[in-house]
Amino acid sequence: MATRVALLSRDQIDQLPERAREVVEYRKSGLSLNHIQGCPLDCAYCIRHTYGLWDQRVPRALMSDAQAVEELVAHRYFQPHVTPVQVFNRATDPFLPVVRPHTFAVLEDLDERELTNHVLVITRHQMKPEDVEWLNQLRHIKLTLLFTYSGIANKEIEPYPSSVAADSLKLMSRPARRRYRTILYWRPLVPGLNDSPEHLDAAYRLAQHADATVFTGLFYRDEIADYYKGNGLPEPYEDTARRKIVPETLEERVLATFDAATPLFRKTSCAVAYAHGLPDYNGHIGIPELCDICPLSQLELCRNAHTQPSPERLRDVAERLPETRGLVVMDITERAAVVSGLESEQSRYYLQHALGFQVHDVRHPHRERRHGRADIGWKGEKQDD
Ligand code: SF4
Repeated sequence: MATRVALLSRDQIDQLPERAREVVEYRKSGLSLNHIQGCPLDCAYCIRHTYGLWDQRVPRALMSDAQAVEELVAHRYFQPHVTPVQVFNRATDPFLPVVRPHTFAVLEDLDERELTNHVLVITRHQMKPEDVEWLNQLRHIKLTLLFTYSGIANKEIEPYPSSVAADSLKLMSRPARRRYRTILYWRPLVPGLNDSPEHLDAAYRLAQHADATVFTGLFYRDEIADYYKGNGLPEPYEDTARRKIVPETLEERVLATFDAATPLFRKTSCAVAYAHGLPDYNGHIGIPELCDICPLSQLELCRNAHTQPSPERLRDVAERLPETRGLVVMDITERAAVVSGLESEQSRYYLQHALGFQVHDVRHPHRERRHGRADIGWKGEKQDD
């Protein structure tokens, strides 16, 4: 399929911020492919702020789709049939009119390779009736569409209305027989902005259409806080944090709004795995306090799949990559392997997905009940990073 967005020249690519040039990057929910960057939707909390790409409103390509897929599958972190993949989740929306041919080309290419990896596609854009048929033709990849919906009405924070994502979710979930799965990606939940009882009820009603729902907070990092301040937007928090923020009382209210018949998850990978009838690929079952809202059949699936690796097994997997050869196993419990000597979060995700077991870096301890969440809004603890 032809490139529909402009292809940057070598010189233009060299001028991009360093992280923007990294087309394949490991993020927590999967290995992420981002050879198209730029988005006009202007969500104030966009992660593009943190890549030096905020001003890039027109999508542009760093390479062809075929080259990009080749780079992905040849990447040292990519394991066929194992590594979860995300397409265009960092710097553009995969269903913008100019981007969608590229999204289809990438999915088709992966599918033609008969790969059975999870593939996550996150969008807030309008989808079309013909997309159902097209996506249903994919035979091998485990495709999940995640519809970002916040219910935020403040146009300065989210100029593109949440109702579009809600309609897309309903449209794509409607067919009784389909190979792909749909998820209500309810985020970012921000106290005072979109957490009224009416907001929570609306999300609950929307969740009835999806195969599963995930709720998460806001990545409120320094760059995003600066943007809020610079543009006079109401600041949701006084502090910034590396992880996403969901205060405890808000979580309690979210849980109280949902019932047992509406599957709700705290973690993206849990919802994706559940929707495909598979155990969580991040091994979150090792952190049982995350699982107290999970359907019982899913708990059983995850429990049965959960295997605590021996130190030798962990070292064997670490041996496969140059940057994890210096790994030191500090401790392995039912919950997680605690390691040191990892240069980056990316190699940690590699180990975690290869083992289906939680791997924690001794430098970033995970605290009970707030696993993977920032400490802001939780009682009695200071922030840990
Ligand atoms: S049982 Fe736990 S790990 Fe498995 S999907 Fe549910 S919440 Fe996630």
